[in-house]
Amino acid sequence: MIIGIDDTDSREGMCTTYLGALLMEELQHYGSMQELPILVRLNPTIPYKTRGNACVGINIATSCPDKVMEHVISRVSEMSAMECEMTNPGVVFVQDDEANRVKDTLGTFFLRAVRTVLSIEEAKSIIAETGLQARGFKNGRGLIGALAACGAMLNPGWDHTFEYLAYRQRGKWGTPRNVDKDSFFVADDATYPATWDTVDVSNGLVVCVPHSPDPVLYGIRGRDPDVVKRTAGMIISEPLERSCIYCTNQGTDMHLIPIDSISGIKEMQSYIVSGSVSCDPFTIPGGHTIFSISDNSGSSVECAAFEPTKDFRSLVRKLIQGDAIKVYGSFMNKSLNIEKIEIVSLAPLVFTHNPECASCGKRMESAGRGQGYRCRKCGTRSSSLVQIQQKRDIEPGMYEVPPCARRHLAKPLVRMQTPQSKIFPFR
Ligand code: ATP
Repeated sequence: MIIGIDDTDSREGMCTTYLGALLMEELQHYGSMQELPILVRLNPTIPYKTRGNACVGINIATSCPDKVMEHVISRVSEMSAMECEMTNPGVVFVQDDEANRVKDTLGTFFLRAVRTVLSIEEAKSIIAETGLQARGFKNGRGLIGALAACGAMLNPGWDHTFEYLAYRQRGKWGTPRNVDKDSFFVADDATYPATWDTVDVSNGLVVCVPHSPDPVLYGIRGRDPDVVKRTAGMIISEPLERSCIYCTNQGTDMHLIPIDSISGIKEMQSYIVSGSVSCDPFTIPGGHTIFSISDNSGSSVECAAFEPTKDFRSLVRKLIQGDAIKVYGSFMNKSLNIEKIEIVSLAPLVFTHNPECASCGKRMESAGRGQGYRCRKCGTRSSSLVQIQQKRDIEPGMYEVPPCARRHLAKPLVRMQTPQSKIFPFR
């Protein structure tokens, strides 16, 4: 039986992944866990999310499905942060004999939940049409994520990575986390690039330890279960209550929709879109760097590298009109929020100045409108300005925001296979 769970937490505490980890242990009483649980990140632009728009899926072989459902529903109802208006838990169950029948419908729903905005009504009508067992609490918005998690579990084969999540002892929740910062740098040094986003070396930050009052102590992301476990073994910290390795769509760019024309961009969706820089970058109060790109259809879109992207903005500021680029990011509030950028080709950076006199070497002056240039001292003449092409101090290739500004779903460049372009991972 597959179990999808979502929307159990609030900003004040809890975390759906913690409940998933707890159930992985408790449900062993009713059967055997079939594979690693999954941690699926859905559309990152959704305003209802608490933090990273995550949902969880579990696969259990059991001969007492009713007992499993009862246990899961009672754990969700007692552990969710129900008092929070934004918390609307949902749980969906797919029994073995239902799997084939609902696989495609739920697989499509999963991808749409990662890339578009869905309604609670749609989730409820799919549940009604398929006859799946489900339980929505309060307004039932969590059914969207719970159904998507089942769709992900029923349709393996998507690009995936792994995360080792370490959870705090219950008495410590909400108190400052006791971790040895240096141990994260040592662990990262030993296993990068098989692990990533443990620390942000350039900005001197540990990025895998949350600051919110939830049960997570830290999370180690990487390419296989062994390496994330080995890396977690190098971390020095307060004692853990438990840990869990999740298979996840984090770091895969699953949210990005490749699009041919800027004119097709819609709010609250994420894209890979090509264009040429049509307005030079400028930085506004608050430190956000903005520019525009346009394409052959004549459409243009504003692109933004926000202040938290730190040094990435220095790269963006080097772009000039005419540079051909590909932008990866989410379109929100009429602006494409950049996660990655590929510089495909650079426009020539040309300066012009008045010609120099061949006799005295002095700069000539304009001889009047349409009459060329003349040396005031020698009387020498020249008809045109001199053009000088200056070397650009950036090169074509792929660039990304630093780990401290990375989105959960954004594929880090260390995972990118791009034989046709050079990559510049930000570490
Ligand atoms: P955490 O990751 O800490 O568990 P969260 O950031 O995942 O928290 P949730 O509390 O799960 O946030 O809230 C997100 C809500 O948005 C859920 O109810 C989920 O069902 C819903 N949701 C997710 N994706 C979509 C989507 N594409 N369209 C509409 N609603 C969505």
